[in-house]
Amino acid sequence: MVEDRMTADLIELRNVSRLFPKGSGEDLVVLEDVDLTLRAGEIVGLLGRSGSGKSTLLRIIAGLISPSGGSARCRGQDINGPPDGVSMVFQSFALFPWLTVLQNVELGLEALGIDRAERRSRALAAIDLIGLDGYESAYPKELSGGMRQRVGFARALVVHPDLLLMDEPFSALDVLTAETLRTDLIELWVEGRLPIKSVLMVTHNIEEAVLMCDRILVFSSNPGRVAAEIKVELPHPRNRLDPSFRQLVDSIYARMTQRPEPRAATIEGLPGTGVGLVLNHISSNLMAGLMETLAREPYNGRADLPVLAETLQLEADELFVLAETLQLLRFAQVSEGDIVLAEPGRRFAELDTDARKKLFAEHLITYVPVIGLIRRVLDERPSHTAPAARFRNELEDYMSEDYADETLKTIVSWGRYAELFAYDEQSELFSLENPH
Ligand code: ADP
Ligand code: MG
Repeated sequence: MVEDRMTADLIELRNVSRLFPKGSGEDLVVLEDVDLTLRAGEIVGLLGRSGSGKSTLLRIIAGLISPSGGSARCRGQDINGPPDGVSMVFQSFALFPWLTVLQNVELGLEALGIDRAERRSRALAAIDLIGLDGYESAYPKELSGGMRQRVGFARALVVHPDLLLMDEPFSALDVLTAETLRTDLIELWVEGRLPIKSVLMVTHNIEEAVLMCDRILVFSSNPGRVAAEIKVELPHPRNRLDPSFRQLVDSIYARMTQRPEPRAATIEGLPGTGVGLVLNHISSNLMAGLMETLAREPYNGRADLPVLAETLQLEADELFVLAETLQLLRFAQVSEGDIVLAEPGRRFAELDTDARKKLFAEHLITYVPVIGLIRRVLDERPSHTAPAARFRNELEDYMSEDYADETLKTIVSWGRYAELFAYDEQSELFSLENPH
């Protein structure tokens, strides 16, 4: 038995699935068939778009929620409540405002029954390690966002966990602060100075994953599963400008844009498209901006997504959703990491405002079934009005309430831009602007 525990993998997930009940009574399948093995000595990244179930998976490993199916084990034992030796760093930390930095860090040790003197010396060591020396007696409100996040790291590290779980720990920080913290952490890791054995980090940022991880598990969405595993063998410190770094980023981009999945519920028997299509809230301005950019030099209708993300200062995740939305509306096509403007997209870029609205309206009616439906209902009703609830109910048969909300918001903003219908927030009523 003892030997088993010593040689067992740190984390082992087999066929893990997780469902959440939906408003309509059916279940939302968030994770399906997830296999994952985590060994000592590695940093593993879970890379996927938002909504693909990454946080859910991390919460299963942290013992905060249980899987609906499959097995989740930590050192050979079923995970049942938070396992020993696992700490978590969140996107932004809830520090106690009335406690000093030192007290906030020590807090993690009290529950472990460690005596006062030892608590103090370990907390001071963690604070020193993470670059907060001199701030021991400061209060959270006196610290910058980056410093506060460092306190969060110190609090997670002070318990000397075997496994550090990180859920998008840099995404709430500004670009420079995030990069400094990433490099500091990697440096400590490479020098063997972090009191941990492994790291599992969630990110939707491809470059961050390539910068930090030994292994990247690429997650697909709806439902979330591990679609690919990529080993990163570049030596540290890694350089983002290094050609082999760029090549790896490009190939992951390509992989993530291959056969883009419909962002819709794909429950057995229900269509993933049709009225049940999930619409992401992308503004018509952003779409117009991208089409104009693509139409011009140096792109002339075709661009490499990673290059474009950098030029437009967009996160990969945002650009994917934007590109897919243009694809959904048939203004562009996405394939193998490139976006190519389609003929209507080229035309759009050259038209004046009124003609753009008209073209956009045609594409909405033709390619977004729920918008076609709303317009038909409004045309047919003598009052030319219809309550949003009428359509919300229909959407919720296919998707979670959150997605239905976002889809409805999108419909309203696109419909307004295209002058297809009006919407009154107060009465939650759709209407024809100029009924005839
Ligand atoms: P990610 O971290 O990859 O962005 P999440 O794991 O947070 O994704 O969420 C994945 C999906 O699961 C989302 O559609 C989200 O709305 C849904 N979800 C997460 N937690 C719950 C919950 N407690 N109840 C219902 N749905 C949930
Ligand atoms: Mg998340």
